[in-house]
Amino acid sequence: KKINIAIDGPAAAGKSTIAKKVAAALDMVYVDTGAMYRAITLAYLEADHDDFEALLSHIDIRLISDNGQRVLLNEEDVTERIRENDVTAHVSFVASQAAVRGFLVDLQQQMTLDKGVVMDGRDIGTTVIPDAELKIYMVASVEERALRRQLDNDMRGISSTVEQLKADIAHRDHLDMTREISPLSKADDALVVDTTGQSIEQVTEKILKMAAE
Ligand code: C5P
Repeated sequence: KKINIAIDGPAAAGKSTIAKKVAAALDMVYVDTGAMYRAITLAYLEADHDDFEALLSHIDIRLISDNGQRVLLNEEDVTERIRENDVTAHVSFVASQAAVRGFLVDLQQQMTLDKGVVMDGRDIGTTVIPDAELKIYMVASVEERALRRQLDNDMRGISSTVEQLKADIAHRDHLDMTREISPLSKADDALVVDTTGQSIEQVTEKILKMAAE
């Protein structure tokens, strides 16, 4: 039977790392919706206007599964580019636009049609797949999230300090939780998973158990 798993939560709580592993273990499709908002943010930064309707009419976003996910924006591979600081700094603004959310929620819902997905984001359990069989709300302390993001940035060659990351993460969470359209919030039927002090393996196991129930 085809099931869908929705994983939501604040920035850097471990959603994509875990979602990727869970999808691989269950032979499901992994969809990182944050990457889609990031790709549109890149298009916005490259354009010289903020007419989102016009911008979206020229945008084609494709996700390719390969032990994770690659993102194509108008056929260009932007997987690495969308992790850079300028994109991260503007993504919450772009994600607050009604036109952008309408466009991406449609695309995300289409992705659930033929195969079960493990989809991570901010509004998956509340808005994109409200009937998902398993909904997880993943959290972790802001200290740990900043430390993890720092390791991540180091590996990607992006410069940052833990203090700066803590401030950025807290700011982005605030914007995501207070925007008007589908703000980040826990779905009533989502199960809270706190990843603070937990290894990737421990959290993956826990969610695989939940999925088997
Ligand atoms: O998951 P990630 O941190 O890459 O997401 C980047 C940003 O995209 C979030 O801070 C949020 O503003 C936006 N987003 C969203 N809804 C989603 C996924 C991401 O608004 N489903």
